[in-house]
Amino acid sequence: MYRKEIHQFIREHQQEMFEDVKQLLRINSERMEAEEGKPFGTGPAKALETACDIFHNYGFTSKNYDNYVITTDLNEKENKLDILAHLDVVPAGNDWTVTEPFEPVIKDGKLYGRGAADDKGPAIAAFYAMRAVKELKIPLEAGVRLILGSDEECGSSDIDYYYKKNPPAPMTVSPDADFPVINIEKGGLAGDFSTVYEEEKELPRIIRVDGGMKFNVIPAKAEALIEGLSCEDIKAAALPLEAATGLQFTISPEGHAVRIEAKGSSAHASEPYKGNNALTGVLELITVLPLADTKANNLLRGIHRLLPHEDYYGKALGIAIEDNESGKTTVSFDIFHMNETQLSGCFDCRASIAATKENTAMVVEKVFREAGLTPGALKTYPPHYVPADSELVQALLTSYHSITGREEKPIAIGGGTYVHGVPGGVAFGCAVAEVDNHMHGPDEFMTVDQLLLSAEIYADAIVRLCGKK
Ligand SMILES: [Zn+2]
Repeated sequence: MYRKEIHQFIREHQQEMFEDVKQLLRINSERMEAEEGKPFGTGPAKALETACDIFHNYGFTSKNYDNYVITTDLNEKENKLDILAHLDVVPAGNDWTVTEPFEPVIKDGKLYGRGAADDKGPAIAAFYAMRAVKELKIPLEAGVRLILGSDEECGSSDIDYYYKKNPPAPMTVSPDADFPVINIEKGGLAGDFSTVYEEEKELPRIIRVDGGMKFNVIPAKAEALIEGLSCEDIKAAALPLEAATGLQFTISPEGHAVRIEAKGSSAHASEPYKGNNALTGVLELITVLPLADTKANNLLRGIHRLLPHEDYYGKALGIAIEDNESGKTTVSFDIFHMNETQLSGCFDCRASIAATKENTAMVVEKVFREAGLTPGALKTYPPHYVPADSELVQALLTSYHSITGREEKPIAIGGGTYVHGVPGGVAFGCAVAEVDNHMHGPDEFMTVDQLLLSAEIYADAIVRLCGKK
């Protein structure tokens, strides 16, 4: 299906493509203070305006939705396919070594600059796919629209604005994640719990426990203060735990009490097994200590039973649901604070598509109540799912296979992408698992090969989905 012609077109126009991406990379389009007519500030608006100029250079028209998003259409036909990417970036941050974040360069086959991979490079790759199809005059029977937003990194209010004025096309692909295709984004719930109790002075006892800052990040540090035991007692209990868990405990005197610091490693809550949770680790240690039989100490034991160390799949909570397509539900315990009279905690759960209110949220609520804890509002959010055997997913896999030779299955992830909640939407490229392109970090890059290949894959997908049959 025009594979050769597309390949040749993309290769012949690669210099133009690199220059167009670089133009966008020179703009700092992180979210800024809103101004009149610029809901996300000057940077994002400038990026949208520059992309419109790029469209016009090649004979495409554009439409600006009040500096929330811009669109360009491949033809005048009714849209069957929307391609959704974004031009805003996360802040540049420090420690760039190859170039300055907004001075793009190509070095050793890599195009460096903030936004090269997320998501300006992919946005332009998608545009060049449309350009190729248009200039090669490949006959289409349906329309294709490129939608470029400017608020993906800070809540996606851009695309909400667009969808208030336009229905989504029957199919949407977003080049803002990974190849081959992400067709399942798990749903889940974010829950919190709390309770209060009378202070009891009986020793040994817990004075305080603190761990975690964000509900969706595995805490790398946690600490506790214990009264009524010696440093030596606690060190003796910590030693075998260190060996078993790989956590590091630092035990030191603090006033008349003993301070425990636990050090593990952080990870995103959607992949808790990639980290080593210092919070569940410190509870693991506290609960083996011979603490007095008080209400507070027993509450803590109950919490530890429900959210033990290394229970990534919600077994102890009774919500270890899994299915073939989306895999296992994951759970992480991410924030906890306790003092002599009250405690509160927060956990994150990414639910498999087989999870329901009955087998997940209601179970969690019940077991927390039974442990003497008051569950807060369980914020549930639905999964996003396009069947693997749908026309869209199958066509995208075929395009990916036909350009790269790689035969792969669609992916389920715990996080959410730009198309979470867009009916018939899947994430499609441009990253591949074996290349770490430093997204959101210093020295972000996209390889030149991946940029070219992605444009070819998108062009192939456009023809496959919208071409004359
Ligand atoms: Zn992105």
